Formats: sequence, C-alpha cells, structure tokens
Amino acid sequence: MSAYEQYTQLRSKIAAYQLALATLHWDGATIAPKAGASYRAQKMGVLSGEMFSIMTDPSAIQILKDALEESLNDVQRKEIKQSLKNVLDIVNVPKETYIEFVTLQSEAEHIWEVAKSKNDYQMFKPYLSKLIEMTKIIVSFRDSKLDPYEQLLDDFEESMRSSDYDAFFNEVREKLVPFIQKVLNSEKPAPAFLSAYVSEDEQKKLIDYLAPVFDYSLDTGAIAKSVHPFSSHFSAHDNRVTVRYLTNQMTSSVFAFIHEVGHATYNGQVNPEFEGLTIAQSMTYGLHESQSRLFENLVGKSYAFWKPHYENVQNIVSVLKDVTIDEFIFGINYVEQSFIRVEADELTYPLHIMLRYELEKALFDGTLSVDDLPRVWNEKFKAYLNLDVLSDDHGVLQDVHWSGAAFGYFPTYALGSAYGAMFFEAMGHDLDVEAMLLNNDFKSIKAWLKENIHQYGGLYNGKELIEKVCKKPFSAHAYVEGLITKYSKLYQL
Ligand SMILES: [Zn+2]
Repeated sequence: MSAYEQYTQLRSKIAAYQLALATLHWDGATIAPKAGASYRAQKMGVLSGEMFSIMTDPSAIQILKDALEESLNDVQRKEIKQSLKNVLDIVNVPKETYIEFVTLQSEAEHIWEVAKSKNDYQMFKPYLSKLIEMTKIIVSFRDSKLDPYEQLLDDFEESMRSSDYDAFFNEVREKLVPFIQKVLNSEKPAPAFLSAYVSEDEQKKLIDYLAPVFDYSLDTGAIAKSVHPFSSHFSAHDNRVTVRYLTNQMTSSVFAFIHEVGHATYNGQVNPEFEGLTIAQSMTYGLHESQSRLFENLVGKSYAFWKPHYENVQNIVSVLKDVTIDEFIFGINYVEQSFIRVEADELTYPLHIMLRYELEKALFDGTLSVDDLPRVWNEKFKAYLNLDVLSDDHGVLQDVHWSGAAFGYFPTYALGSAYGAMFFEAMGHDLDVEAMLLNNDFKSIKAWLKENIHQYGGLYNGKELIEKVCKKPFSAHAYVEGLITKYSKLYQL
C-alpha cells in the first residue's frame, strides 16, 4: 500500500472524530439542555484527545513524510502538505508548555468575561501580558524563520505578511477615514423600522422565505436557533446554519442569517471528491469570510436583490407596510458610529479592524506596552471614528479574541470583505449580476461561485485564488472604491 493510501485510511478515522465533535458542538449550541453541558464537554475532551494522539503519533507523521516522496497530483500534494503543517505546528511544543498555554487561555477567557462585566482592564492586563509572552514561546518551537507576529498572520491567512496588510490598511486609512466623516456629517436620521419591534414569528417567516431565494435547501442544510449565529460543516451534503432573533433589531437577525448561508454554501460546493479530506475545509479565514460578506453585503444589501421580493417581504413583516423599497435599502445600509465592532455597519467596519491590527502589531514588536494599550486604543478610536471611548468595556475589553490568544485573526475579517469585492468585480465581467438578481436568479450566481471559487476548497490560498480568478494581484482598490461609490450614491454626496 502506498503511503498516500495509508494516509487516506488514517484521515478517514480523523474525519470520523471531526464529524462526531461537530455534531456534539452543534447539539450543545442549539437544542441540548444546559444541564448536560459538563458531561458533554468532558466526553468531547476525550474525543479531541484521541484525535490528537492519532494525528501526532510518530508513525502517522512518518506516513505523511513518506507520502510527500511519492508522485502525487496537485490535490494530493496540497492535502499532505496541509496535514503535515497542522501536525508539525503543534508536535514540537513540549507537552508541559502546551498544557500551560491551554490552561492560561481558559483562565484568561474567564477573567476577561469578569473584567469586561466590571469594566476593569487592570484585572485583565496581567493575563494579556502573559498571553502575548506565551504565544511568542509557542510559536518559537515552529520550524519557521518568520517573526512571531508574521507567523500568526500566516496561521490565519497563509502567505499574508504585515507588509501586505500595511499597504491594505494605508489605503483604507487615507481614503475611507475622511470619506466616512463626510457621510456622518450629512446627519441623515436612522429610519424607524431599524429599531421597530418585529416578532420572532415574523422574522422566522422572513428567513424561511429567504432560504430558497439563496437556494439554501433543507435537504442539505438545517436552520436552528443559538445564542450567536454560526455555520457548521458536517459533510458535502450537510451544511447547517443557526440564527438568533432580536425583536428590536430585525436586520441583525436577517443579515447574520444571510452571512452564515454564505459560509454554508461555500462548504457545500467544494468538489465532492475532497469529501473527508483536510482540504475540503481548509480554506483560509479570509477566503471563507469573502463568501459570507459577498452574500451579506454585496448581494444581500443591494436594491436588485430585494426588488423582486419586496412586496412579499412587506406582507411578512408588518412594520415594513409603509416603508418604500428605497427607504428600506437606505435603512439596511445605514451608517452609524459605533463603539462595538460586531455592531458596526459595512462602511465603518474596516476601521475597527485597522485599529486592532495596528495595536496587535505594536504589542508584538514591543513598541506598545499593555499599560498603554487602553489609552492608545482610545486615541486611535477618536482619530478614526471621532468618538470618545468612555469605558473599556466599550473599548479595549469588548472582544473575546485576545483572551483566547487569537492574535493575527482580526485582519482576516477586513481582508474577507476586500477579497469579496474583488471576486464580485470579476463575476461582473462574466455575468450581468444586477439583471440576474432583478430576475430572482441567484442560482446562476451560485453556479459561478462554485465554478470559480467554491469547488477548490483549500487547494489555493487567498493570494493564489485572487490571481487565478481576478487576473491581478490582491489590493484594497476594488473594495475601497466600491464602498465610496456605493455610499456616495446612497448618501447623495
Ligand atoms: Zn463569518
């Protein structure tokens, strides 16, 4: 038997553990009673441990190394390289150091929760300092020449360097910061329907109406309720989403649903021959987010998308009865300064990310200390969003990411929007997207995405896929110009 065949047998075992863990996680986040949480978590720990042992066993690592010596096609080679990287990233870390790091993360996450609720940065500060220090130590065991922060950026988005992100955010800073001030200075009032009461029943009916519009079928998916919306991949023919209903924020529920359907559609359209392999789900964070943002913002917030459905939507959601479609479109794209990243609109969102990126980078290269972090956060927030942060729970303490040592993750959120804009532009060269949406034809758009992007799964990284689809290197241009054109029109600037 070839080493690659031995690998596929091993991989089939790991995929079984992954399916079990995904199912338990889904169950826990949706319908399982809270009382069973601790037993479930314990057994999930057992399964994760077993899976870890199979992956990191020296004989398994040898199989991967042997397979690389065989003549493999591009898909097989990428598969083996990806699996080997996943293992080698962790296997050289001494066990005690790894346990210390995992323990620190779970403690820090708990402390962060308390610190946030008490608005007490000083309480979280020593943990943040230790998390940065230990992350540097963990990364130092890698067989890599990259600086720690570059390595972290690469972990979340293969081949993206701080020089790429610097160029990207420079364009965002130079063009979007002044443009956003112009939008905000126009002082247009928020349409009332945005905060009007819409019953859970009406919101559910709207989401059930929209699912087939996006060609999201319950034969290969499911929609359940959870505290935070997410999507979950089980197999090629089983990709589920969750929703939450906020009765005074209907648009939040609806667009989170569309966002998650974007993720689920991506997973569901990967080449079925990749089923069970690592590359069926190893798309980069930025690429995955590009599809959710394309669904949510570029399709879901457009006039052409809603036009053929708006009368039906008005019949489902009673507060929209007297809202014209133009008012509706303005409302779902309404720009508002917000302290909180997850509540930010499409236009101001990248500024929240830019701020975090600049701070993370400075924390890792030593030019910023954890003592000065809240002050510098607030100064940057004032410079970019013209708001005075009055308490840290609305500032530096708002996100969970740093408490879990997820440094280098944030920039992929903005990158996803920018990739999405470039893909959308490329799609426009092949299809008349607006005419298709006006004709309630999302299927053709979905087919284009499958052909050009989704089928490849994790075969290409973001830079590679952008070059392949868009025939030019990645830049912020399409994204930034797209936003300026869209919002100039909406705000008549
Ligand atoms: Zn997402």
